Amino acid sequence: MRSTMMDAPLQVSRILGHGASVHGSAEVVTWTGGEPRRMSYAEVGRTAARLAHALRDECGVTGDERVATFLWNNTEHLVAYFAVPSMGAVLHTLNIRLSPDQVAYIADHAADHVVLVDSTLIPLLARSIGAMTTVRHVVVVGGGDPAPLVAAAGDRIAVHHWDALLADQPEVYDWPEVDERDAAALCYTSGTTGDPKGVAYSHRSIYLHSVQICLPEAFGLGPTDRELAIVPMFHAMSWGLPYAAFLSGASLVMPDRFLQAAPIAEMIAAERPTLAGAVPTIWTDLLAYLDTHDVDVSSLREVIVGGSACPPALMHAFAERHGIDVIHAWGMTETSPLGSVARPPAGATGEAAWRYRYTQGRVPAGVAARIVGPAGEPLPADGASVGELEVRGPWVTARYVGDDAPDAEKFRAGWLRTGDVGTLSPDGFITLTDRAKDVIKSGGEWISSVELENTLMAHPAVLEACVVGVPDPRWDERPLATVVVHEGATVTAEELRDFLAGRVARWQVPERWAFVDAVPRTSVGKFDKKVVRSRYADGGLDVRELSAP
Ligand code: ADP
Repeated sequence: MRSTMMDAPLQVSRILGHGASVHGSAEVVTWTGGEPRRMSYAEVGRTAARLAHALRDECGVTGDERVATFLWNNTEHLVAYFAVPSMGAVLHTLNIRLSPDQVAYIADHAADHVVLVDSTLIPLLARSIGAMTTVRHVVVVGGGDPAPLVAAAGDRIAVHHWDALLADQPEVYDWPEVDERDAAALCYTSGTTGDPKGVAYSHRSIYLHSVQICLPEAFGLGPTDRELAIVPMFHAMSWGLPYAAFLSGASLVMPDRFLQAAPIAEMIAAERPTLAGAVPTIWTDLLAYLDTHDVDVSSLREVIVGGSACPPALMHAFAERHGIDVIHAWGMTETSPLGSVARPPAGATGEAAWRYRYTQGRVPAGVAARIVGPAGEPLPADGASVGELEVRGPWVTARYVGDDAPDAEKFRAGWLRTGDVGTLSPDGFITLTDRAKDVIKSGGEWISSVELENTLMAHPAVLEACVVGVPDPRWDERPLATVVVHEGATVTAEELRDFLAGRVARWQVPERWAFVDAVPRTSVGKFDKKVVRSRYADGGLDVRELSAP
């Protein structure tokens, strides 16, 4: 029997239409360093229509052509998030922090036709635009001089200015009906462990993912919320927050290029967000700032931390010193990105609740997770069997852009192989111990680099600790700990070694220690273990070798 229900395709234009009408008075605020810019969701709707007209009539965008963004988190990026997919084209969020070669490679791979660029990023785009063979139009946002772009790309590209381009366009666009399974947006992985690979989100996957983001078991967004979206819009679609905001009526606070701890703290005090999302390194920096400055952060009811493992010490520090609940979440570009959120089950209190919060959490409805052994055999969900995490679901990619078939290294029988290693408990909580590529294999045993990092970061003198496996003649691999010490604090390698020895198995304690000014970070702010390993190999680290504790 067929249902009697209407069939309304799940399209990005419906999310836009809903936000711009029902939640038309919600606002997007963009930080400028001076007076913040404000735009209502109703106005975002009208501006999206104007951008779509301009892209079609002035830049010749037709069908599913790709429109790339090279922008910070701001109003114009939000407008593009809606205008491009709603008109049936495909939004491609370029990662501004990749190398010029990688940016050009990705733009070519995606066959981008237009690039929207922030004027402050013109010099950066100029370094790759010459090698972008498919780009024909560049739209500059803000009043910058586009000369470097023209010099690099010649008359192959036409340069437009956002304000002039949109000025006389109609404020209504007759959004086409698109197939909900067609691509709406493209995002490439940030290449932490290899070359960037493209994932094409569909209208349907974005819609379903946005609904899920709003549920209380996920981020719990509603019309009284103000979401500070620090996670870049070029990193896994800013975790889906812009679309979720339009569905739920939550307002958005956008940091633009002001991503240091001081302006973020100022934004929180001035714009009073209730929620925020970013990778752990941003919160580590902010915590150090809040500990030494008097800032009113009382508006924040919780912050979502994901993208790499959240050190428990960071969660405790925020809760105990600043009254902010840190919620740990796990996800990937390949999973839209919501994969799991760590909210304790009903009845868990005190220490038990904390133990749940340290995990990567449970999958939302729709996503399934399992742990498999080396040959792909499913392992029991007993909280003890360690294997690779595999997931599947309607917002999990089934292959990469340009591949005719799923790449066997990343997909297995309809499951995405996440490359993350850990356990699954009987009540569904995922605990990740490492990325498969970062696990330290010492004498046939595995050492979790994340566990060593988390334990070290619980030492009061340690700001950041990054642990990688390095070659060892006797054990194949041994851990190397690189440590950043809090300003004004002092600690020796011997003290840290003894601190660890009381907390993890003694054979796991690193012999090799290096104190560094900063841990190198990837384009999205994660510890860059590739760089740490190669610095060690090149002799670029000042390493002390200690005897066993
Ligand atoms: P990249 O693979 O280039 O870093 P992604 O942002 O897609 O780009 O990274 C996804 C990966 O980030 C996951 O596979 C996992 O290794 C890591 N990750 C994300 N969230 C967490 C978390 N909460 N705990 C541990 N690792 C995480």
